Amino acid sequence: MENKKEMRTWLNDFNLTHPFVIAGPCSAETEEQVLKIAHELKDSDVSVFRAGIWKPRTRPGGFEGVGEIGLKWLKKAKEETGLLMGTEVANAAHVKLALEYDIDVLWVGARTTVNPFAMQELADALQGTKKIVLVKNPVNPDLSLWLGGVERLYNAGIEKLGVIHRGFSTYEKTKYRNIPEWQIAIELQNRFPDLPLLIDPSHITGDRDMILEVTQEALDLNYDGMIIETHYDPDNAWSDAAQQVTPTALKQIFVDLKVRKVNDASDEFTQKMAKLRANIDVLDANLLELLGKRMKVADEIGQVKKDANVAVLQNKRWNEILGKMILEGEKKGLTEEFVLKMFKAIHQESIGHQDKVLNA
Ligand code: PEP
Ligand code: MN
Repeated sequence: MENKKEMRTWLNDFNLTHPFVIAGPCSAETEEQVLKIAHELKDSDVSVFRAGIWKPRTRPGGFEGVGEIGLKWLKKAKEETGLLMGTEVANAAHVKLALEYDIDVLWVGARTTVNPFAMQELADALQGTKKIVLVKNPVNPDLSLWLGGVERLYNAGIEKLGVIHRGFSTYEKTKYRNIPEWQIAIELQNRFPDLPLLIDPSHITGDRDMILEVTQEALDLNYDGMIIETHYDPDNAWSDAAQQVTPTALKQIFVDLKVRKVNDASDEFTQKMAKLRANIDVLDANLLELLGKRMKVADEIGQVKKDANVAVLQNKRWNEILGKMILEGEKKGLTEEFVLKMFKAIHQESIGHQDKVLNA
């Protein structure tokens, strides 16, 4: 990773020439494991060593973390390597212990961010701390809930705040463990341009082979850094085995990642972009014009259905349209996912128009 990236707020204090990196195992397992991984990560682009001490498991019976003794190992790892230490906290008792052991970065997990009572408990326990506190997105795609958690911490006088994008749960199986829904992180940047934003490609992908691609996508969207699960023996990790990478693989990821500049002030770049953006503006205007026309036809259809007293939703016809459009879209280089999303939105709007006519 080369190219100095302009960082948001407190991240600049690290004086890095590359994005900010947190790495380490999903869970602290043994003292030897913690120390071995920490030593393999020192003298790399990693600033903070991560290890889960208390593990929130979806179902009981899994490995729930080693607890307080793991904090002793982290303290030792810090003394031996000089790396900062980070772990997840989910309640006031965790915070108290983490602060006692001088943990530098405390993050709130996705299953905790969803719960305003838990967030308030954490904010109260962390009141005024100078430590770095990072908030993962909640498991459900709700930007307000995510920001609400950040606000509670902000109101508790915590200055070094940031967010981690780790993707969202879905009922349907996708190629991701947790789908990114990038637009949520984009909107977050629009609303809070100064809030440091990290990507967690490990929990988004659930698959070590996809880590590079998702991290690159995040850097292309101006993220400040990453948190990547790293273990010297990923396949035998006690939690999240499939998504962890080895320290060697992580360092290769650093080599492969391309860090882009936020902007380029040169005339050549400015002119080329202005031309292309003018083109996009015209096309966007055309799109809106067309969509407006399409909805006028929908109004007419609504009138015909009203006269004949026929229901708005015609599922057979709708499925035919979708199938056809996916094929047509493919020919034009559009992904099935996008075509589906777009036509579902158009259909929804069209139903709204027809409904209004039918019930006028
Ligand atoms: C983790 O970081 O190991 C973890 C449990 O993450 P999340 O809260 O994103 O599931
Ligand atoms: Mn994990």
